[in-house]
Amino acid sequence: MIGNDYNLFWIETIRQLIEEEKLSQQEHDMWFRNMEFIQGDNESIILSVPSKFYHDQVVQRYLSLLEKKLGELTGSTLDITFEIRKNSSVEAITTVSETTKKPDTKTRTPELEPDVGRAPHLQLRQDYDFDGFVIGNNNSFAASAAQAIGSNPGGAYNPCLIYGGVGLGKTHLMQAIGNYIHYNLTDRKVVYITAETFINEFIHSIKSETQSHFKNKYRKVDVLLIDDIHDLQNKKETQEELFHTFNALYDAKKQLVFTCDRPPSELRNFTDRLKSRFERGLNVDLQPPNFETRYAILRKKMDSMHKAIPEDVLEYIARNITTNVRDLEASLTKMAAYADLVGKEITVEVAQQQLKNSFSANQSANITIDRVQRVVAEYFNVTPADLKGKKRTKQVTFPRQVAMYIIREITDFSTTEIGLEFGGRDHTTVMHSCQRIEDRMKGDPTLEPAAAELIRTIKENG
Ligand code: ADP
Ligand code: MG
Repeated sequence: MIGNDYNLFWIETIRQLIEEEKLSQQEHDMWFRNMEFIQGDNESIILSVPSKFYHDQVVQRYLSLLEKKLGELTGSTLDITFEIRKNSSVEAITTVSETTKKPDTKTRTPELEPDVGRAPHLQLRQDYDFDGFVIGNNNSFAASAAQAIGSNPGGAYNPCLIYGGVGLGKTHLMQAIGNYIHYNLTDRKVVYITAETFINEFIHSIKSETQSHFKNKYRKVDVLLIDDIHDLQNKKETQEELFHTFNALYDAKKQLVFTCDRPPSELRNFTDRLKSRFERGLNVDLQPPNFETRYAILRKKMDSMHKAIPEDVLEYIARNITTNVRDLEASLTKMAAYADLVGKEITVEVAQQQLKNSFSANQSANITIDRVQRVVAEYFNVTPADLKGKKRTKQVTFPRQVAMYIIREITDFSTTEIGLEFGGRDHTTVMHSCQRIEDRMKGDPTLEPAAAELIRTIKENG
């Protein structure tokens, strides 16, 4: 057989899977339309995918199905491998390069013809678009999902929940979805609202007896973006209302996107049925950016401000502001303002002087219990489920105590909240665990540095 025959086998594989309804048309459009056959021989066939995200999803969802069908058709066992081709027809994910010299920071989106003449969306910030969003280690999965939603709202990622700490880009990414649809799929009605406003409008609608107006407003949209849904904690009636809105839109295959400052499992005073709706779709998290990404973000922001700040100063800021992007931007703005006002050249010394206070103030935000559990579990070679589970062997009790201790040290969660996240343990257990670690530290000189290292990892994220 020659290479081309394998292309025919590939086409036939997909055709038969669709015919046998093992692959829906929607799935095909989502995952296979942008895949290209590259080459084949009697050992393997190679296909191109537009991004790592596609790659991981396709492998996870379809690889065994594809290999089986291809095996049936060719009568031999062929490996299917993928190459990530950034310039194929759909978007190309640009990850921040290893070298910090010139990271490419563009996020490319599918080739639709945007209606550039369209009036801006009233609820969305125009500068919150995909082009302005730098993709790095911390957010590439979330950004790819956002782009996929932008080009196919109501498709495979519905609902989508983006979660992460403050200032990590949740609102930016959510609004980028909205802006993208607003300009590219102009017949779709996009509504963006913060959970807080949603609550207030709902309460107002009850007081003024305009509930049906309220209902209609949110049930007649194609894309509903609700920001900061953690603000709905304790708001039972609004949650109830959102639950019904959710169902109506979901059933009509309308796109829902939410942001939250924690994973849904950590939401408190939330009805289970609404929480389970959030968990049903795609949950993606935004982590604090690493150095390369921070540096790339600064460069990008600097370019858009039309300011020249020396490379070594950018690097200095990127090294020292580690928590979130909002703080990073604030430091840059401060340096630019200083340069304008004082008319002096900005040097690393000036930056040191001016940003002193920001550096000390910017630790400890943004840390979820989930994050601590993951880092500690990895360090001790157990799983987060072990930490939350019932097992009481030494291999898990010690890491569990360390995790609780660290959460106590670097976050504001109460012992009750911590206990809940460790399989519903009592707050006295948490207090006792923290005490145990403190006691052990007195006798074991290696424990404190180990905890310090873990805390650095948790805060730094590489
Ligand atoms: P959150 O909603 O998570 O608190 P925001 O979306 O408000 O965070 O982001 C804070 C600021 O940081 C915004 O000005 C946003 O444009 C910027 N920002 C966050 N992440 C990125 C990124 N990856 N690339 C460029 N700017 C970013
Ligand atoms: Mg926000």
